[in-house]
Amino acid sequence: MSECLFCRITNGSLPTEFVYEDDHVVAFRDINPAAPVHILVVPRAHIETVADLGGDTTGVMSRLTAAANRIARESGVDADGYRLIVNCGRDGGQTVFHLHMHLLGGRKMPELAA
Ligand code: AMP
Ligand code: ZN
Repeated sequence: MSECLFCRITNGSLPTEFVYEDDHVVAFRDINPAAPVHILVVPRAHIETVADLGGDTTGVMSRLTAAANRIARESGVDADGYRLIVNCGRDGGQTVFHLHMHLLGGRKMPELAA
């Protein structure tokens, strides 16, 4: 899966500053931030979409959420709140097909479109 952009980031072949990393998860700033704080939280394992989770990978979302909550606290956005987003597939707005969670904060988020 060396062609995958986020595999190249997680395995270090595309040098990227991590704001958080552990054995299972890395996090880095979105290259095109949509908010003052916009961090991508990414499993090291190549999983294409959230729809692929289940069985052995059921715990992946818990790890991503725990990391995002920690980064939110460290970024100082926890008191005012933040948004966690996982886009799934084309209609969900996913453009990078390696599962990731967006952490957005630092401003009031707009209401979701109907
Ligand atoms: P999604 O549309 O949910 O698949 O989100 C993919 C995100 O990856 C977008 O917000 C992009 O701005 C971001 N992105 C793409 N390439 C990079 C990169 N090299 N480093 C950091 N973020 C990136
Ligand atoms: Zn990948």
